[in-house]
Amino acid sequence: MTKKIFKSIFIVVLVVLLASISLATSFIYDSFNRSQVDQLKEELALVANGVNLSGTKYFDNFHSNSVFRFTVVDANGEVVFDTKVDPSSLENHKDREEIKEALETGAGSSARRSDTFTEKTYYEAVLLEDGNVLRVSVSQQTVWSLLVDMSPYIIVTLLVAAAVTSVLSHGMASKITEPLMQLNLDNPTQNDTYEELTPILVKIHKQHKQIKNQMETLRHKTEEFEQVVSAMTEGLVLLDEHGMVIKMNASARQIFAVKNFAEGSDFLMVDRTSKMSKSIWEALEGQRSEYVEQRNGLEYQFTINPIWSGDKVLGVVILAFDITERVFAERNRKEFTANVTHELKTPLQTIIGSAELLETGLVKLEDTPRFVGNIRKEAKRLVHLINDIIRLSQLDENQSPAMESVDLVEVTNEVLDVLTDTAEQKKVTLEVQGNAEPIMGVRRYVYEIMYNLCENAIRYNKEGGSVTVGLAMKDGHSVVTVKDTGIGIPVEDQPRIFERFYRVDKSHSKETGGTGLGLSIVKHALLFHKATVSLDSEVGKGTTFTIKF
Ligand code: ADP
Repeated sequence: MTKKIFKSIFIVVLVVLLASISLATSFIYDSFNRSQVDQLKEELALVANGVNLSGTKYFDNFHSNSVFRFTVVDANGEVVFDTKVDPSSLENHKDREEIKEALETGAGSSARRSDTFTEKTYYEAVLLEDGNVLRVSVSQQTVWSLLVDMSPYIIVTLLVAAAVTSVLSHGMASKITEPLMQLNLDNPTQNDTYEELTPILVKIHKQHKQIKNQMETLRHKTEEFEQVVSAMTEGLVLLDEHGMVIKMNASARQIFAVKNFAEGSDFLMVDRTSKMSKSIWEALEGQRSEYVEQRNGLEYQFTINPIWSGDKVLGVVILAFDITERVFAERNRKEFTANVTHELKTPLQTIIGSAELLETGLVKLEDTPRFVGNIRKEAKRLVHLINDIIRLSQLDENQSPAMESVDLVEVTNEVLDVLTDTAEQKKVTLEVQGNAEPIMGVRRYVYEIMYNLCENAIRYNKEGGSVTVGLAMKDGHSVVTVKDTGIGIPVEDQPRIFERFYRVDKSHSKETGGTGLGLSIVKHALLFHKATVSLDSEVGKGTTFTIKF
């Protein structure tokens, strides 16, 4: 800016100076010319007087080196006298403007430039009393030749002027720009400089405010985004159009086992699997892809999507969902279906086989009751199994029946009442000890828990054994223990007995009449009550299940 102002001042001053010199020169030249013509006229009048009186003799005393040149021309235009040259050497002057005019009107004047334009000659003529014309002329330089003559002076003047102007312009330019340089743009309205700048400074102030607000909104949004992204349980990775990591949240860091900061590095350095490289490449080409893969022992579903801006792919977003539970549930469901099919088929085959034998009359009469008994036993087992499946699927459906106050003593007595016959058949004694406060729960589910535990305690007991149900209060919780003196559960089987269809002794399952679903039902019903179960068992001595509501 300083340079521009300096240049402008410098050029303006020089142009003005040049124009002034030119104008002044032409004014001076003009006024000089006018006075020259006036003087010429006066001189002519004076000399004409003398010539009228004494003819051309008047010029006898005339200085030949005078600037004025006098010529006498007769009425025919012939030069009869000249103060500078021999009149005979001069051509006829009849056509000269000033001569013609003087002959016609008594006085004439004209001016003519020389061929080289370096001189201009002024002519004044007057008609003498004898009919001749007296002409006076004076030559002087033209304004151009004057300027050429003066050019060294003009150049020197211009150079001096340029030097002075340069110094002054520089000073002025600095002085003008100095307040601008010192403008405090952080607080535009607190400047006391040029009044003309006020609207601009006010505008800057407004823009400052706008930018500040926008920055604040942006910061807020970024923070929000950061919070949302870091709180996500899904892994999220954002890549730019070159596959470089822009953002990677904590979950993604864990899934891809990234210890250091991955932002700014090539994602293919983070994950080198061929599936991922292919998917990223496809996403950069605008295609979406999805696949399931195991990471750190968990099942993940990876979704790789292009990020579009108009018709251009700006980057890629990778989402990783933990679908372990879903896969596990799916696997369980498949296993369960296979198990159910198997469990249903076995008793049905026995029933069909026995019925066929009876039908064909191949069974001896005395064996008939045994075959019919088998059919009844297997049919009963089927009903038992179907009932257990129904109960389990009801619990699976996660329905939330209304909670009520459930009296544990009352439920226990009811269960033991129902099981008295079974216990008697097995020669097992049943007993209830202690007391516990009612709990908030679903009576039907609590009944299932107590029934299955007590039934197992009888079923897996020894002849002459006992089952003791203990009720107590511990740390404000109702605690139920079901203790038997039965066969016990081997340590290695203990973690698995709550699985569906899991039986410790598979070969004797038919005899015991169990379905392998009882403890699964117990586990589900306990989960519903947020209750815990623990197991204490020793093979050959007995088992104790402890439930804490
Ligand atoms: P089941 O219908 O076969 O009894 P459960 O799910 O109730 O199925 O029990 C699973 C397995 O755990 C049983 O097959 C049995 O081997 C073992 N079990 C359960 N309770 C007892 C117990 N009180 N004593 C010994 N073993 C038991």
